[in-house]
Amino acid sequence: MIQEKLEELKTFLSSPKSMVIVGHRNPDGDAMGSTLALYHYFKQKGHKPTVVVPNEYPEFLHWLPGSKSTYRFDWQNNQSQRAIKGSDIIFLLDFNALHRLGSDMQNTLEKYPNDFAMIDHHQQPDDFTYMYSDTSICSTCQMVYHFIEMMGDVDLIDADIATCLYTGIMTDTGSFRFRSTTSTTHRVIADLIDKGAENDRIHNNVYDANSYGRLLLLGQSLSNLKIYPEYKTAFITLTDAEKKKFDFQKGDTEGVVNYALSLKGIVFGVIFIEDKEQQIIKISFRSKGSFSVNEFARKYFNGGGHDNAAGGKSLDSLDETIKKFVELLPAYQEQLNESYEA
Ligand code: 5GP
Ligand code: MN
Repeated sequence: MIQEKLEELKTFLSSPKSMVIVGHRNPDGDAMGSTLALYHYFKQKGHKPTVVVPNEYPEFLHWLPGSKSTYRFDWQNNQSQRAIKGSDIIFLLDFNALHRLGSDMQNTLEKYPNDFAMIDHHQQPDDFTYMYSDTSICSTCQMVYHFIEMMGDVDLIDADIATCLYTGIMTDTGSFRFRSTTSTTHRVIADLIDKGAENDRIHNNVYDANSYGRLLLLGQSLSNLKIYPEYKTAFITLTDAEKKKFDFQKGDTEGVVNYALSLKGIVFGVIFIEDKEQQIIKISFRSKGSFSVNEFARKYFNGGGHDNAAGGKSLDSLDETIKKFVELLPAYQEQLNESYEA
């Protein structure tokens, strides 16, 4: 954040404020971890923060400290609207543009008269009054740590804040393995453990909380995997019927796309998930090396994200979406073959 703006924000926050903190729709570990960490921090500073979550989030994040104090915009709309109306500033965390909140929440926030402050690591961020945007940082949670550092308050990081931040850094880095994981990330993580993040418990709560149905859904996903070695590409599909058969719950497909990328020699992994309720095909793109899935998702599938992890959607049927995808591959053969491979 530019120094002048940081000083301005510090002055603004030097007296007690009401603030609403929001993360993106379909929240993941980084969105929940960063918003809740900031909530605990602002509470300590004597402010009145409220986290408003756009919609349902996975069961394996419900244990996060503070999650019970959040409002859900979709089914606690009155309370959420009241909190937004009564706030002096809104913090936008872990997304680059208001449309990522879903149209109802986007419409509400577009009418918001006060300032926004953004903390985010996605590409192509929209412009807000206070901007802390850095696409080189692995997670918004690591940025919230640095934000607290910039505010001169690292000593205020307690076990709750440390736990929330650890969780988001862990989930957004694939447990500290993606390219975005730096020595600074590890130093931050070390400090969070010193401040009370119980690393073994956090890994356990997030990754060893599977239902039997979720494992069977993973089995189905793996048997649906298609490999295109000439394009170093592998993709997984899941139909709505398959999801129903294995009692699909929110978050059950989180991370499944990584199995496509775990194949030796594959640099482009994709999962196509049919969502009959929203009438879309939800797509997750992952890559290794220089092939930018952010650009690919942006150009062809109404999405975006980061160079090596992006999301998107299609309004066509599952079959048509896959056909479109497969027909795009030959144009990228060279790029895909030049992308890094272990
Ligand atoms: P996922 O595939 O897990 O939904 O998303 C991968 C990454 O891309 C996450 O960081 C997510 O926030 C981001 N992302 C997902 N969908 C979109 C989208 O439609 N637009 C943008 N800009 N980013 C997205
Ligand atoms: Mn993130």
